[in-house]
Amino acid sequence: MKMIKENLEFVQTRIKEVCKRAERDPESVCLIAVSKTQPVEALEEAYAQGIRDFGENKVQELMEKEAVLPKDIRWHMIGHLQRNKVKYIVGKAYLIHSVDSVRLAEEISKEALKKGVIADILVEVNVAEEETKFGANTEESCNLVEQISVFPGIRIKGLMTIAPYVEDSEDNRKFFCKLKQLAIDIMKKNIDNVTMDILSMGMTGDYEVAIEEGATYVRVGTGIFGERNYSTKSK
Ligand SMILES: *Cc1c(COP(=O)(O)O)cnc(C)c1O
Repeated sequence: MKMIKENLEFVQTRIKEVCKRAERDPESVCLIAVSKTQPVEALEEAYAQGIRDFGENKVQELMEKEAVLPKDIRWHMIGHLQRNKVKYIVGKAYLIHSVDSVRLAEEISKEALKKGVIADILVEVNVAEEETKFGANTEESCNLVEQISVFPGIRIKGLMTIAPYVEDSEDNRKFFCKLKQLAIDIMKKNIDNVTMDILSMGMTGDYEVAIEEGATYVRVGTGIFGERNYSTKSK
């Protein structure tokens, strides 16, 4: 799988270049290899290239891969999370990017207490206000952060968004900018247990623009592993 190595080098070079342009420390941007639907061999290939952050959107798939891959991998849960699956993911995921309701956060809190761990989470905001997407709407997100922040066993580390699929990545700049501004506004409120150090935004089509607007995690799937084949692998 020679492609993965080359794709990774390409993406990593572009990240470095955009950081230089934007006068950002390249160390401040972490690349998450989004490995959903990809076979374990593909992840091993990326691992061999030094990748330690992998993103999955299904609990079952994350657990299966976690069980067989090296223990120093940081697993990012980036997909919609159902409350009945929380028990499997707390303690396994390094960061849950997709918390968008008080009820979900409450469940994560309960499970974290039960396991004696702290669950690090991001609040997912649907800044583009797309009807088909999960995530809190922009107006209610600040309230949501406040409500979630009181739960024990949880630390809110920042915000995540999934921007629309667009031909021209410039079209998403306003949404990334909006998420960054929202993080600044929330920071100013000085809520206990809440930091806004992480902004998880940008995918294959628009990670450069996202970095220019302040992304600290970019989530790149296709750009590393190639097109996903949902028919054979995903369930
Ligand atoms: C699949 C997925 C990605 C990666 O998308 P690509 O366009 O393949 O880079 C990023 N974030 C989330 C939440 C995803 O579900």
